[in-house]
Amino acid sequence: MKLDLKIQPLSSWIKATNDNQPLLIAGPCSAETEEQLVATAHLLAQTGKVSALRAGIWKPRTRPGEFEGIGSIGLEWLKRAKAETGLPTAVEVATAKHVEEALKAGVDILWVGARSTANPFTVQEIADALRGVDVPVMVKNPVNPDITLWIGALERINNAGITKLAAIHRGFSSYEKSAFRNEPMWDLAINLKTHAPDLPIINDPSHITGNRDLIPYISQKALDMDMQGLMIESHIDPSVAWTDAKQQVTPKALAELIDHLTLRKPEV
Ligand code: PEP
Ligand code: MN
Repeated sequence: MKLDLKIQPLSSWIKATNDNQPLLIAGPCSAETEEQLVATAHLLAQTGKVSALRAGIWKPRTRPGEFEGIGSIGLEWLKRAKAETGLPTAVEVATAKHVEEALKAGVDILWVGARSTANPFTVQEIADALRGVDVPVMVKNPVNPDITLWIGALERINNAGITKLAAIHRGFSSYEKSAFRNEPMWDLAINLKTHAPDLPIINDPSHITGNRDLIPYISQKALDMDMQGLMIESHIDPSVAWTDAKQQVTPKALAELIDHLTLRKPEV
């Protein structure tokens, strides 16, 4: 089955900062304070390796009672981070209201999270809010290993007129005991590629591994499989991060790990 997606090339909206390294989107799992976000953004910008700043401000937590994101005020912090560093910004949206607020605040890239992709009603609500808007959207795979949910979400967003579209591979939940927080199940990402050869796929080693020590291994594997970029969580001080502390890396550690990755050379 070949999907009928209308997609613009990734390079029409985001590129690696230079030819010798992969495309990299980085930033904290969550925006926590204005200082944390802005300071992290400055350090990431100084690496010269980051093409966009990610930060969650509405956080889909599995159980109540945990930090659920700083909310709309974080949009102001993202605006400041962008004004001071020049980095385009990216946030997760899970409702029509999130989409409206993020667009109004000038967020450059939106993404649909893994829990939202699993719910067609949610995806359709997001898609309807995007109709008539020209903004890049990245769609994470659903939490469960169901490629048709992933495809359906991509189709809904594309049918709403979003052509700057990418998929994010963030791994799948599984009952198997594993070193990973979410099993990569690479074959599902390859399967998506066969259905939609023009669709860019960005790898998210942070949420696959749940463990900063395993990020280089998964990142290299993703590049070896021709994925077009990486989204990696980075925090100025991961040990005190309010969410996903074990998988975040400092901007310095991020720069080092990127330097150790090998890009596949185009075949001649
Ligand atoms: C995130 O990117 O911080 C996030 C919540 O990821 P996922 O939707 O992949 O769990
Ligand atoms: Mn996270």
